[in-house]
Amino acid sequence: MSGNELRAQAIASITNRNPDSHHLPGRLEDLWAKDVFTLAKMQECLPKSVFKSLQKTIKSGAPLDVSVADVVAVAMKDWAVSKGALYYSHMFYPLTNATAEKHDGFISVQSDGSVISEFSGKVLVQGEPDGSSFPNGGIRSTFEARGYTAWDVTSPAFVMETENGVTLCIPTVFVSWTGEALDKKTPLLRSNAAMSKAATRVLKLLGHTEVAPVNSSCGAEQEYFLVDANFASVRPDLLLAGRTLFGRPPAKGQQFDDHYFGVIPERVQVFMQDVEEKLYRLGIPAKTRHNEVAPGQFEIAPMFEAANVASDHQQLIMTILRATAKQHGMVCLLHEKPFAGVNGSGKHVNWSVGNATQGNLLDPGDTPHANAQFLVFCGAVIRGVHKYGPLLRAVIATASNDHRLGANEAPPAIISIYLGSQLQDVFDQIAQGEVKGSQGKGVMNLGVDTLPVFPKDPGDRNRTSPFAFTGNRFEFRAVGSGQSVAGPLVAMNTILADSLDWMADQLEAKLSAGVDLNAAIQSILQEVMHQHGAIVFNGNGYSAEWHEMAVKERGLLNLRTTADALPVLKEKYIEDLFSQEGVLTPVELHSRFEAYSEQYIQSIEVEAKLVVSMAKTIIYPAAMRHLSELSLALSNLGELGIDLGKEGVTLVADLVKSMMASVAELSDLLTKHFSTPEEHMQFCANTLRPLMDKIRSYADALEGEVADDLWPLPTYQEMLFIK
Ligand code: ADP
Ligand code: MG
Repeated sequence: MSGNELRAQAIASITNRNPDSHHLPGRLEDLWAKDVFTLAKMQECLPKSVFKSLQKTIKSGAPLDVSVADVVAVAMKDWAVSKGALYYSHMFYPLTNATAEKHDGFISVQSDGSVISEFSGKVLVQGEPDGSSFPNGGIRSTFEARGYTAWDVTSPAFVMETENGVTLCIPTVFVSWTGEALDKKTPLLRSNAAMSKAATRVLKLLGHTEVAPVNSSCGAEQEYFLVDANFASVRPDLLLAGRTLFGRPPAKGQQFDDHYFGVIPERVQVFMQDVEEKLYRLGIPAKTRHNEVAPGQFEIAPMFEAANVASDHQQLIMTILRATAKQHGMVCLLHEKPFAGVNGSGKHVNWSVGNATQGNLLDPGDTPHANAQFLVFCGAVIRGVHKYGPLLRAVIATASNDHRLGANEAPPAIISIYLGSQLQDVFDQIAQGEVKGSQGKGVMNLGVDTLPVFPKDPGDRNRTSPFAFTGNRFEFRAVGSGQSVAGPLVAMNTILADSLDWMADQLEAKLSAGVDLNAAIQSILQEVMHQHGAIVFNGNGYSAEWHEMAVKERGLLNLRTTADALPVLKEKYIEDLFSQEGVLTPVELHSRFEAYSEQYIQSIEVEAKLVVSMAKTIIYPAAMRHLSELSLALSNLGELGIDLGKEGVTLVADLVKSMMASVAELSDLLTKHFSTPEEHMQFCANTLRPLMDKIRSYADALEGEVADDLWPLPTYQEMLFIK
């Protein structure tokens, strides 16, 4: 079948498809956490002492008593077997954005040849997948490929039911046999512990005698595109790169703003309900769903949870979105920029810190006391984001997210903080040394405190800021839709830990010198604003003025590409940050630089190869067919004495020529070798990418000239609007 026939067939099969069968999800109470080995289920089936010991580890971070593992393992297995499981899997999160799993059977053959299902504490607590094929950034050579997974008690085990069977899934960390973290969960747990320790120091200095362990929370808003699978299967770029490398913008894009929050198409709603039902069964609190800005783009947001659990759940959400889309004859694209010219997809990571005794520490509250505490924590975030802004840029640096950052739709690549006018005003006053009051509904309480009382009102929203305060949390808006949220959470927790430690040192020194608490807080916050106030920006982050001002006047970095951003991970001050807080050793940090730069280079090179092959084998032949039809028609007309001129032919011929010349150039460049990842990344960013764009511009121009019935690739119009 020729290319254009495939395209026509794709359209026909979509238009003729039978609607997905509707089935309304059951009652929430019946679905909720049905497939999770919850604390409540553990309490039912475990001896009291074992349950208490586990609960202590889960709730207050007490060390795991390994002796309880055997009892838990049997209970967990019995529960999973009662749900039909034959296999179990340690799930872990390697240095890609994916989830890895290795399945093992419960089967155990007895000496008499019979089998029983067996699962011991030893295999619950520790697994040993052959980890040699996971990125390790040079930590291991293949001859010492051993990797261990270890049970993370704080994230609940669950069963995953697919058409192919039921598997018990156990969230785990993944480390090398020398103990180095090879995954995204280990540093997340460590960063949380570091933050908790530093926050506890500060809270005690603020006068609290009872301070429960502090945990970070995360609520991630996931954007995604849905495209019919019939289209995706005839677009090698969508299949292999997750984005279109060619495609002329449709006459109608998102300019009418008629998609955002519009009526959800029926087929998509059936899909969403199916996704939500699966999420509820896994105890994932899906809460919000709506159409997004671009046609074909949607969002799902769960309610926030403890960061470690939210991060595991985020991975599951991505897995379930993809798998469910498939069942509905669609492909779910989590790429940050599947279609040029319409909005890309992000994953806003809402983040806060809090505990059982003081509550949300980023909630302004409504008493002066709580206000002081809030200002200390908020000030610590301001200091951290200024001091380590380039790190925040580096942890969201991927080849795909580079298409969003800095473009006029997503936050800029320059990291700044949006506080809102009211909070900004308070911090401005702090900087000037005297707080007179707060704007709006705020009540002054000068007699008690130099710090004002102000209402919770989140103030305005700013969609152009990469890092925005939104009432009782920060929203890191620059994270990419396909990314694991662990990296950004690790960075935020670690920089906060560093700032809180600094504040605790300052407070201790001032208090022991006899300075009164409020005066000490005021002077520390004043210093924070003097040193770090340059990071606060409430204006339009998309504007050219900001890009200029940020760099020239404020001294902020504009790390435009991943090639510019990733080397930050090698800087001494970043190495010190992670090792002082005990989150990543220098070796572990370096391995991340290695792994992520390799991923960047590979994804751009794969795309470049695809550009070459699609241009040569799909677009060039279509254009040639068009040219030969045109020439034949022109010469036939010529015989009749009609001369239509040859402009049409020349135009197409010139485009083909230019495209093929650039394709040859790109092909050549792909054979180059480099001595460092830094050089190689710069080459990808500044030579390969622009050349790929150039080839695309010729191809997209051809799409506007070549006869539609000869054009082999499903068009933007079709992919975005036909559902
Ligand atoms: P918007 O699109 O207006 O930013 P959404 O309601 O879509 O808001 O998403 C807000 C997200 O922030 C939700 O996941 C919500 O649970 C989360 N969130 C709310 N409070 C907190 C908090 N204290 N810590 C972390 N996330 C939070
Ligand atoms: Mg949001």
